[in-house]
Amino acid sequence: MKKTIALRIDVDTYRGTGRGVPVLCEILAKYNVSGTFYFSVGPDNMGRHLWRLLKPAFLWKMLRTDAAGLYGMDILLMGTAWPGPRIGKHHADVICRVAAAGHECGFHAWDHHYAQARLMTMSEAAMRKELSRGVKALTDICGTTPRTSAAPGWRANDQLLRVKQEFPFLYNSDCRGGQPFYPVVDGEKLSQLQIPVTLPTYDEILGRDGVTDDNYNTRQFSLLKEDELNVLTIHAEAEGGRCAPMFDDYLKTVLDHGYRVVTLGSIAEEVADSAPAGKMVLAEFPGREGVLAVQETK
Ligand SMILES: [Zn+2]
Repeated sequence: MKKTIALRIDVDTYRGTGRGVPVLCEILAKYNVSGTFYFSVGPDNMGRHLWRLLKPAFLWKMLRTDAAGLYGMDILLMGTAWPGPRIGKHHADVICRVAAAGHECGFHAWDHHYAQARLMTMSEAAMRKELSRGVKALTDICGTTPRTSAAPGWRANDQLLRVKQEFPFLYNSDCRGGQPFYPVVDGEKLSQLQIPVTLPTYDEILGRDGVTDDNYNTRQFSLLKEDELNVLTIHAEAEGGRCAPMFDDYLKTVLDHGYRVVTLGSIAEEVADSAPAGKMVLAEFPGREGVLAVQETK
């Protein structure tokens, strides 16, 4: 696949949906580019991440990425003292406009915070419930069933992949890795294609190896592979907020260099017949806490 970037936009919070998504839609429209948005539609309890400040690794990450400046104090406090607002209920119009603008709308989470913290230790029944609630809410908003999903924080395991098979997803983006593949679980090749994210996110590389806001785009650009599919994840809270001008520059640069920027859905169509089988494993990942789902390399 020549000079291709599949663009994935994760939307984790109330503010990211209300403020970040419209900003990103404007930037994408300016360059006539479509992306795949993954929405969180239940309560915004992301502020509960605050308790994790007790862990030194998380505190370091907050300082390294200036989380308060990036996300805003209201996000950091959301859901800590009172139940978080239901994002899908308050911002249904935003989500509808994304679909109307020709972007792809996928399912990210019901309760992003809860799913990110617990999804991997949930029973099969609890996973099913979490997904059902969210997929129903997103279906009610969009009027169509989402055909793709992406696990929050790439916290996914084989059990989750199996549960997802019960939903009408055509493909998912639950892990980090290289090229699209059909996951094999207990010796069985699943029918839902997996499109791994190949590039790091802003918060993963900022503050590491000399990466600053000034050289971030240069570093991101240097990681692109001309002959293979590139999959980039941006966040409505970051690239739709403080990092919006930087993301605008990035898009301009990659398009000027002849890259095409497309939805994950169009990639899924292109590789549906040719993608190989593969495995998803759990591993530590640079810039992230704990383990997450990674495509197995042989
Ligand atoms: Zn997320």
